[in-house]
Amino acid sequence: MWLREEFERNVACLQEWEEKVHSFVFLRTNEARKEAMREEELLAEVGEEEARRRCPLLGMTLAVKDNLCIKGMPATCGSAALKDYVPPYTATAVERALFAGAILMGKTNMDEFAMGSSTETSHWGATRNPWDCGRVPGGSSGGSAAAVAAGMARAALGTDSGGSVRQPAALCGVLGLKPTYGTISRYGLIAYASSFDEVGILARNAKDAAALLSVMQGYDGKDDTLRRKTQDAPPSFEKGVKGLRIGLLKMGQEEGLNEEVRESVQAAARRFKGAGAQVETVTIPLIEHALAVYHVLSFAQASSNLARYHGVLFGERVARGDWEEMYEATRAQYLGTEVKRRILLGTFVLSSENFSVFYRRAQSVCDALRKNFAHALERFDLLLGPTSATTAWKLGERLLNPRQMYLSDSYTIPANLAGLPAVSIPCGTDAKGLPIGMQLIAPAYREDLLFRAALAWEELSGQAQYGLRQGKERWKNMK
Ligand code: GLN
Repeated sequence: MWLREEFERNVACLQEWEEKVHSFVFLRTNEARKEAMREEELLAEVGEEEARRRCPLLGMTLAVKDNLCIKGMPATCGSAALKDYVPPYTATAVERALFAGAILMGKTNMDEFAMGSSTETSHWGATRNPWDCGRVPGGSSGGSAAAVAAGMARAALGTDSGGSVRQPAALCGVLGLKPTYGTISRYGLIAYASSFDEVGILARNAKDAAALLSVMQGYDGKDDTLRRKTQDAPPSFEKGVKGLRIGLLKMGQEEGLNEEVRESVQAAARRFKGAGAQVETVTIPLIEHALAVYHVLSFAQASSNLARYHGVLFGERVARGDWEEMYEATRAQYLGTEVKRRILLGTFVLSSENFSVFYRRAQSVCDALRKNFAHALERFDLLLGPTSATTAWKLGERLLNPRQMYLSDSYTIPANLAGLPAVSIPCGTDAKGLPIGMQLIAPAYREDLLFRAALAWEELSGQAQYGLRQGKERWKNMK
């Protein structure tokens, strides 16, 4: 019975919230209900243990970001360029989650081609933050984060190349995990910056996130970057943070770090310490250059990846003149401002006279940064810091100021450059009642350490479920 009940609770949340929040670009509630009913029948027939053996994600409603392909369903990437694109195949990550019993609710809104931090640049309009509908949910996986926060799905898939899962998770008060680069197949994920793109998970607790990771990860013949499995073995990971060495990333003079965010992260560090972790501050040399490096490398990759949207193979076409004019007119009309900006800058840094000045140099700083992280992670099991410098900002506030928008990712980007697993976990609210997230970074393939800390935190903070409904009152009591 619980399965149908949980499903209907999700639907009730959808009815209450979707119109205000606009998380979804495509919904399939009726099909999803049929699937839930089938799982309910299985449950009745074989009992819970056997049903869970067959379907580890039994009853888990799932929302999927619109840059992950699902056969026969639109995959628009929030772009007019792909507004009628229906892929003929399904992304490996989605396929595995569905095979394990996840119930697909629909596809979620995102910044166009996953370029953004606020989910305002979508062709389908902005998504809003359910904690305050006048504010952004973060991005680019804002639709997925808002859906989980508002209870419209139990978990969601997003993608994270520079923070697009962790940052919206922080702004929407849910858990957001980006695994080690090369853990979950990218097959069927529409590319933005291939050497950073990853499938990530948004969930209401660590257990659900671990369950999803465990079914989605691992070898896939269709993605050559997959090397090995992470060391998660849910649900048997070690308990508590006793003895864990946590490096508190120095939060000094950084531009724009909100005082309440700083205090909240420091308070969390004290709690971990109280529970037996060793906490010391740490600095990662070169981390201050991460943002610049990311922008050179990711824009370059974007310019190459997005070269295919010229109206011949995919999407709409503006019929005009010869093929060059047609390409130009099509791209001018169907790609948005931020996407064009990145294609232009990316093309610029890849041009022969700029390649070594920008791209090469950025690559070597990226390598050095990766080494610096590895070095710090010999001394520490986990690194702790804020996920986002601020809580959710007002709609429109940063949209016309790309530099300010880019700065919103300064805490998440370093883990992408280093390819390390990282999680954002809710750790409080600010004076306005908006959620604050802390970020934990672990050594490569040590997602188990992230889950261990996340589970411990659920106990320490008394939060068994993150999200709007569960959160608002309880965080107040924690202060
Ligand atoms: N917000 C970052 C950007 O705009 C990260 C995007 C992402 O992770 N997909 O580049």
